[in-house]
Amino acid sequence: MKIQRICVLGSTGTIGENTLDVIARHPQSLSVYALSAYSRIERLAAQALATGAAVVVVPDDAARRRFLQAWTGTARPPEIRIGEEALVQTAAEPCVTTVMAAIVGAAGLPSALAAARAGKRILLANKEALVAAGSLFMRCVRENNAELLPIDSEHNAIFQCLPAVGHAQARTEPAKGVRRLLLTASGGPFRTVALETLADVTPDQACAHPNWRMGRKISVDSATMLNKGLEVIEAHWLFAMPVERIQVVVHPQSMVHSMVEYQDGSILAQLGQPDMRTPIAYGLGFPERIDSGVGLLSLAALGRLDFEEPDFGRFPCLRLSFDALRCGQAACVALNAANEVAVAHFLGRQIRYTEISRIIEQSLDRQAGQASRALDSLEDVLALDGETRTFAAELCLAC
Ligand code: NAD
Ligand code: MG
Repeated sequence: MKIQRICVLGSTGTIGENTLDVIARHPQSLSVYALSAYSRIERLAAQALATGAAVVVVPDDAARRRFLQAWTGTARPPEIRIGEEALVQTAAEPCVTTVMAAIVGAAGLPSALAAARAGKRILLANKEALVAAGSLFMRCVRENNAELLPIDSEHNAIFQCLPAVGHAQARTEPAKGVRRLLLTASGGPFRTVALETLADVTPDQACAHPNWRMGRKISVDSATMLNKGLEVIEAHWLFAMPVERIQVVVHPQSMVHSMVEYQDGSILAQLGQPDMRTPIAYGLGFPERIDSGVGLLSLAALGRLDFEEPDFGRFPCLRLSFDALRCGQAACVALNAANEVAVAHFLGRQIRYTEISRIIEQSLDRQAGQASRALDSLEDVLALDGETRTFAAELCLAC
């Protein structure tokens, strides 16, 4: 395997922790250069000690002090950098070969873009960056010869099922012979509950995903299936695939992680345990296969695999995502920003679960009523993202 010095952005999250687990299994070739966290600073200090990271990035001076208080090492603590600029700078540093982009939300966009601009191997877990700035991000990957490896399990599965030609480079057209991409979705914790109970579900119920252990924001997104909607948009950009050739299939067991359908009628699928260390190990080892620590999948013990059509009535957020992708990039920015605001308010118990889709829909309506605008730069994207957040926050307050 290629020797890599890795920057793990969002190291204290679910993806970050899983990444460090895989890295620790390959001390000969993989080492950590930098880690970043927004909260759980004590955990960051423990990670920095265990990995020997040279740099950590924290949000502010209070977090820097907390880091130093939590530092138990006898050696000198790592260099502590502060703020978003430091994330951007660290992701682009010459000694870094590989960046794991695992910050949640559009907050992960500037640093992921910086990694692309610096031509790194990018392990892209953050999906909001691609939803908000797909064309900008992919252009940046292409122009700077960055290597892009999707970590989201569905996209990693599709990547594995596609022909290997020019693989980790940004595509400009769909792979030859491919008819459709089939994204699987578990349907989350509310796939079968009575619709009238949804208005009263709690954040903990929404975060209790039947198959995956994930951060709270993506867990709520999985419950609403907005997550699958974001993944449809993500697939559109990653694989240069038109929206009408991307289909969602509900598969409650989460063992088939997604599929590629070919012109000749073949469907290739990637299967495995629902454990993010598999796609992470794939990204780190690429093009080789390396140990991930994930247990084997026994098909006989599993017995059956079920598939069904998604229910757009139960999951309005999925429909809204398809609508946004058809409308264009500004709508996708609005979809993502409104969702981040609505989910944060739901997790803070300020709005009901069923308000999430309503707030997104109204934010999309507002966007549709405005003159079309160019989104050619990070600044353009962030400006629209900010405006939508203000609008969505007002809607939340009025709930
Ligand atoms: P998480 O909430 O567990 O962790 C998020 C990380 O980002 C933490 O380290 C946190 O400190 C940091 N962070 C949060 N807000 C930040 C900000 N404003 N600035 C800088 N850092 C910030 O999330 P997760 O489940 O690990 O997911 C991370 C990303 O990967 C998300 O975009 C998610 O959609 C995507 N993803 C996750 C999974 C999964 O299984 N967890 C699967 C596919 C994709
Ligand atoms: Mg996924």
